[in-house]
Amino acid sequence: MHILARCPKCDAGLPVRAAEAPDAIKCGRCGQDIPLSASPALREDRAVDTCAVCGGPDFYIRKDFDPKIGLAVVIVGAAISAIFYWYERDFIAYSILAGAALIDLVVYGRLKDLTVCYRCHSEYRGSYPRTAAAFDLHTADVLEQEYERKIGRR
Ligand SMILES: [Zn+2]
Ligand SMILES: [Zn+2]
Repeated sequence: MHILARCPKCDAGLPVRAAEAPDAIKCGRCGQDIPLSASPALREDRAVDTCAVCGGPDFYIRKDFDPKIGLAVVIVGAAISAIFYWYERDFIAYSILAGAALIDLVVYGRLKDLTVCYRCHSEYRGSYPRTAAAFDLHTADVLEQEYERKIGRR
């Protein structure tokens, strides 16, 4: 399992392999020391039970999707279809636009889920079974505020 630990001070994402997670890591951006406690389930890629960074037990899952890639496909599709449109090949132009949208959908559907900590936004990727529920805005509001008070950001 891979952990993307989120620095509590500057929000930098720090990649860590759970199997060999040290007791603490140092943030490469701001120098903050971040204590880690990877549970046995995390180390063995069995489940995401407690967050290695903040110790919180609350997670949600979301698609491991980079919006920039999706946008690039649509922009390239639109650019190509504009060329055909210019030459009055409307049908081809629309087909290409539809194709680009379809590619986006297919890519999105095949993406794996990743698990995210509600409190500190650390991310977990691995082959463990996904048990967390989808994102809930109310839960996020409550837990983020609790965490930010704890680390003294508010
Ligand atoms: Zn930092
Ligand atoms: Zn956390």
